Amino acid sequence: MKELKNLTEELSKCVKCGTCRSICPTFRIIGRESASARGKLTLIDAYLKGGIGLTEDYYKHIKECAMCGACRDSCPSGVDTTGIINAARADAVKKQGLGLATDFIFKNVLDSSKLMPFAVKCAAKLQGLFFKDSINENGLISRFSLPVVGSNRLLPPLANKFFLDMPEVKALRAFKPSTFSKGSQPVKVAFYAGCGVNYLMPNVGIKSLEAVKKTGAEALVPDEQVCCGMPAYYMGDVDTAKRLALKNIEAFEKYDCDYIATACATCTHGLKNVFKELLSGESPEVRARVDAFCSKVKDITELLAGILKYKGDGGAKFADGQKRIVTYHDPCHLNRNQGIRDEPRELIQTNKSVVFKQMKFPCSCCGLGGGLSVTNYEVSSAIVKRKADSVKESGAQIVATACPGCIVQIKDGLHRYGVDAKVVHVVELL
Ligand code: SF4
Ligand code: SF4
Repeated sequence: MKELKNLTEELSKCVKCGTCRSICPTFRIIGRESASARGKLTLIDAYLKGGIGLTEDYYKHIKECAMCGACRDSCPSGVDTTGIINAARADAVKKQGLGLATDFIFKNVLDSSKLMPFAVKCAAKLQGLFFKDSINENGLISRFSLPVVGSNRLLPPLANKFFLDMPEVKALRAFKPSTFSKGSQPVKVAFYAGCGVNYLMPNVGIKSLEAVKKTGAEALVPDEQVCCGMPAYYMGDVDTAKRLALKNIEAFEKYDCDYIATACATCTHGLKNVFKELLSGESPEVRARVDAFCSKVKDITELLAGILKYKGDGGAKFADGQKRIVTYHDPCHLNRNQGIRDEPRELIQTNKSVVFKQMKFPCSCCGLGGGLSVTNYEVSSAIVKRKADSVKESGAQIVATACPGCIVQIKDGLHRYGVDAKVVHVVELL
């Protein structure tokens, strides 16, 4: 990954045209130049030239970004805006840290396949003290205003049983390299759960495995997998993200699989693309291992629709036997960072109980990414309003998407803005 000081040439490509302002979700809400990519690049340029220091204001502005990538995709000069903003965050975190609590969690808890589940299990036991069940939706509402969480925010409950601990998953957990059957057939898929699926939405993992198996492919779940590191990466803690990337590569390379699949758009982008960037400075031997790993990574929608040619069996039926209008939200990490748009829509339409309806702005950012929902919940929840409005206007009863993070954010947005629709992962409709 390039250091900020080595990005001056990239910065100089910006001709200040302002195209990036017109599509930026944070600029749309905040309305201040520094909220747009152009404003941030101007600040970063001044910082690099010594015109401004690493002040609280500077850091606040570079954090005001959902890392959606819309500015990068629309920039006529091809400036790697998100790469520069992320490098600026990494530079700031290297110099001043993320704060004691976050530093401790990122450096000591995230990369442990034992400590992390233990910490989340403790949190699951304590969640009733701070949260109560929401009356209308499947979720938790804070009992009082909490730091970071705020008040009246709908959050998903931690699962009673984590995905990796479920009996049907334990049977597929691979502890030895010989676990896959020999020969080139069937297609062998190693499943990466990620924190969202493991701790919050185990059913998404189960449905993914079931769908893979319906195509005749073989699936297993490698042991010793840890967090993908993307929360740390997008918050600027590059060292932690690198450590986690290497641990995951070590965990998966023991298995002679054809594909590594995830049901989280952020994890897929991390495993497929960011690992390469993070570990680009390593030795040729390590880089060859990284390339071999990354080339196998597929989003579950890409794998099922594009590679395994999933046809299904008519899909999940609804309790009353009636059809449902379903719309689809494009996660930025799937749509912009991987170009995957058709596959999730194709899968949704394999369900015979579904009437698919496109919403307005299906690829507008939900506002969760880049740590924004943690560092600036007010702006993040204002961004998701456009999504809630689009869902309402579409008349959809269900919003399907392909990222646990987007599911959490859109559920909260629909709750906050009073829109009556369910939010599910695409695989839950199969
Ligand atoms: S669109 Fe590109 S060139 Fe134009 S202001 Fe934004 S970053 Fe600069
Ligand atoms: S990545 Fe998205 S939120 Fe961040 S500056 Fe670019 S358009 Fe705005």
